[in-house]
Amino acid sequence: MPDESDLQYRKRLQSLADEYGWNEMRAMREEIDALHIERYSPSFQKKLADAGLVGLTWPEPHGRGAPVDQQFLMAEELECQGFPGYGLTTNLRGGGMLLRNGSDEQIATHLPHVVDGSWTYCQGLSEPGAGSDLLSLKTKAVRDGDHFVINGAKLWTSSAHISKWCSLLVRTDATQSRHRGLSLLLVDLKSPGVTIQPVWVMGGWRVNAVFYDDVRVPVSNLVGTEHEGWKVITGNLDEERAMSFGGTETRLLCARLIHRLSARRETLHDSDLEMLGRFVMELEADRLLYLRVGLAAARGEDTSGIGPMSKVYGSELAQRFIEWACELLGHETLFSESDDVLARDMEQQLRVATVLTVIGGTSEVQRNIVANRHLGLPRSN
Ligand SMILES: Cc1cc2nc3c(=O)[nH]c(=O)nc-3n(C[C@H](O)[C@H](O)[C@H](O)COP(=O)(O)OP(=O)(O)OC[C@H]3O[C@@H](n4cnc5c(N)ncnc54)[C@H](O)[C@@H]3O)c2cc1C
Repeated sequence: MPDESDLQYRKRLQSLADEYGWNEMRAMREEIDALHIERYSPSFQKKLADAGLVGLTWPEPHGRGAPVDQQFLMAEELECQGFPGYGLTTNLRGGGMLLRNGSDEQIATHLPHVVDGSWTYCQGLSEPGAGSDLLSLKTKAVRDGDHFVINGAKLWTSSAHISKWCSLLVRTDATQSRHRGLSLLLVDLKSPGVTIQPVWVMGGWRVNAVFYDDVRVPVSNLVGTEHEGWKVITGNLDEERAMSFGGTETRLLCARLIHRLSARRETLHDSDLEMLGRFVMELEADRLLYLRVGLAAARGEDTSGIGPMSKVYGSELAQRFIEWACELLGHETLFSESDDVLARDMEQQLRVATVLTVIGGTSEVQRNIVANRHLGLPRSN
């Protein structure tokens, strides 16, 4: 049973959502399109910050010390109505990393800017030759007095073109074994020597190739212990995999599709009705899995084995649903220029969903992690 504070909180979220009519939603969509980014609206993020809804579950004085389920309720109330949550989660990940590993000074410098929505964060891990096998990364940083000097290239850095900071994983000691000798540096992306180039993905948005040429970063931007960046980054990856990967958008699309079919009074073939029923059940399972991982993460429990389950399940479900739904609506979804907003969104989701099983770690690799971390099975060499 929800208690009174839950109900009050939901009302607060609902009244924020009510401020957005048709025109405001359209303007927000145009803002997202102009930035070429998926579900990231700076103006909406500012709105959440002004309403005191960013950093909710972080301990005071950095956050608001709210109960752990409030972040989940926020996604339920807002993302399921089509509000963009991606920017919020990437910035919270930057802040969460500092809460777990940062110095007092880093926490005091960064967290107020995350909470007021003025600073944005991205994550630079993957390289042209290092994706699933992240430990083979080559970007290096060499100590020079009270600075590190960085040289190398990162690929697929989502939102680098609109971020102030990048959490950059670099090799600081090439003589150590693969897990050791890595460090995590916070890099101001306006630093001299940083070049950001667009890479366009099929979903219609932009990721980035980022080049670092003799980029100088103060030693005070080292997060955690030098050469032990792997510990820092595995915490970040666990947090990333605790996010919803496609389930939330799919629930919204499924509800809109059902509304469309009801409005048309169309009779569905039995096999389509059965599929729809199955998808509704699977979406509920995805929601509960997401809740389980989110609550465990917020309580500080180890989610390294269950986060990947939720990631694989949600992303593969999103792909299966949109393929089926586009076939059901047929030719309408092939013409994304049409005025039919649902058909257009579905066509776009058909393209967007393709990356969900790659971004944040591929399904194959996630299954390996479930076998190893959740089931305790030995790794293959
Ligand atoms: C849209 C998008 C946004 C991204 N955003 C970011 C970002 O912000 N920051 C960032 O650092 N990275 C980002 N990435 C990179 C992403 O994390 C990598 O693409 C992903 O980890 C896979 O790496 P790879 O592309 O190098 O593929 P590879 O690692 O080369 O994999 C190729 C194929 O081999 C399979 N494979 C590899 N190893 C194994 C194994 N051990 N067992 C079984 N199969 C295996 C994979 O499953 C895959 O099918 C993004 C990627 C995309 C597509």
